[in-house]
Amino acid sequence: MKTLGILGGMSWASTQHLYALINRGVAAQLGGLHSAQLVLHSVDFAPIAALQAAGDWAGAARVLGDAAAGLRRAGAEALVIATNTMHLVATEVEQAAGLPVLHIVDATADALRAAGVKRAGLLATRFTMEQGFYRERMWERHGIEVITPDEAGRAEVHRLIYEELCRGRFEPASRERLREDVAQLAARGAQAAILGCTELGLLLPAGSPAALPLFDSTDLQARAAVRWMLG
Ligand code: GLU
Repeated sequence: MKTLGILGGMSWASTQHLYALINRGVAAQLGGLHSAQLVLHSVDFAPIAALQAAGDWAGAARVLGDAAAGLRRAGAEALVIATNTMHLVATEVEQAAGLPVLHIVDATADALRAAGVKRAGLLATRFTMEQGFYRERMWERHGIEVITPDEAGRAEVHRLIYEELCRGRFEPASRERLREDVAQLAARGAQAAILGCTELGLLLPAGSPAALPLFDSTDLQARAAVRWMLG
């Protein structure tokens, strides 16, 4: 088994889920007492979120780059960044660590393509929905068009992520609101909804009733990680 490095804590709520999924995936394939061989660097999310809000992506890249270099020294052979948003600095993280990042967009795209999806709705932080790094990679590398909710919808999903989910709060009313967002994306021609924030699947898991099939980025990232570890 190859050793995986996880850049986590963004937020802890989704990192603990990712950790469990990767371990279950390894155990399911190897059986017995097998579990995932990995190193985890879990950051304090508050200063990272402050850098995001200030638009200081270079500062965030330095913090995550240093953590990634530490994961390499601790034995990691490849990395996952346990948040969609911070893939904004994936290239800088790779350079700082001298290790490949198993990119969350590629893991998500592989599943969308296998399902024949050409146009997907994206639910995520404002950064992921608006900054282009996610949409461009989906289109240029995978030929999948990404659409997002309107301005008010994007603001509400972003608020939900930072005010509730990243604090470990999961409210039924917010789940219903997310379902409405999915229905609106369906009405605009999306064939699937990407839960492109690692906490969203904790509120509305893939496979639960919704107007579109749900693709949970945490679940797909975990599967890609296990494939790489055991491949
Ligand atoms: N976990 C979230 C994501 O997947 C949001 C937290 C963050 O900004 O890193 O984008």
